[in-house]
Amino acid sequence: MSNQYGKLYVVATPIGNLADISFRAIEILKHVDLIAAEDTRHVKLLMNHYGISNKVESFHQHNEEKAAEKLLEKLRNGLSIALVSDAGTPLISDPGMPLICKAKDEGLTVVPLPGPCALITALSAAGLPVTKFSFEGFLPRTSSARKAFFTEKLNETTTWVFYESSHRILATLQDMAAILPRDRQIVIARELTKLYETIVKTSLINALQLVEHDANMQKGEFVVIIEGAEEQKQSDDLSEEQRRILMVLMRSCSTKTAVELAAEITGARKKLLYQTALKIDSGH
Ligand code: SAM
Repeated sequence: MSNQYGKLYVVATPIGNLADISFRAIEILKHVDLIAAEDTRHVKLLMNHYGISNKVESFHQHNEEKAAEKLLEKLRNGLSIALVSDAGTPLISDPGMPLICKAKDEGLTVVPLPGPCALITALSAAGLPVTKFSFEGFLPRTSSARKAFFTEKLNETTTWVFYESSHRILATLQDMAAILPRDRQIVIARELTKLYETIVKTSLINALQLVEHDANMQKGEFVVIIEGAEEQKQSDDLSEEQRRILMVLMRSCSTKTAVELAAEITGARKKLLYQTALKIDSGH
């Protein structure tokens, strides 16, 4: 790529505490030709705090495609640009995807400046397994769609994380308690890095009661983390109950059908059911 093109810096900014920003990020915000911000007023608070006076242009979700084209033109003309969102890492539940995709497609240089991100901040202090996890962004807004989502996640064995707003935190926990086991461990991370930071790790039912009974727990910004379901043990033996169901079915069906039905009813593996059926047939 030719050096005549400008670089696009993707700059993470604080999620609450203004001190949570890297020296490098401040230098970049001072020295780029232009800051592209989700909300110009918001970034100005940060700029004032650090004595940064630079040109700022609005870049928000409603004009994203058009704004991306304008910024790409500036990059082609050699200007350097810093992309910031209102808080945390751009693109993480925030605008910026079309701009970065197009910049990459054109071979422009995209430079990430790492820093705060609410989900990573919450995971780092949650005390739940993080070797593997999935991030679900914001959940659907209607109760029925949320319940369908929780049903899908019911047997997910790794930790999962989502963002939630103060308007929906209670309804979301109520829907979750209708679908997931009530003793499932969850972490509610609220107002991270801010004055009223609260990180609670408890059972789903306790978390629901806490949020129901404490109005303060319904205020602010939230990351919710859910423990994965226990892995189903791949046992080499059928349980008493599974064996009994198989035997009852074998009285009135062929072995093949009995095995298929028993697998469907009990969740046991077909291979194991079949081996047991053969033993039962041969009188063992
Ligand atoms: N780009 C941001 C990031 O890197 O985390 C996320 C932006 S998203 C529009 C805003 C959501 O992130 C909030 O509704 C909340 O769920 C979560 N969030 C942001 N700041 C937070 C904080 N200080 N404490 C808890 N959650 C926060």
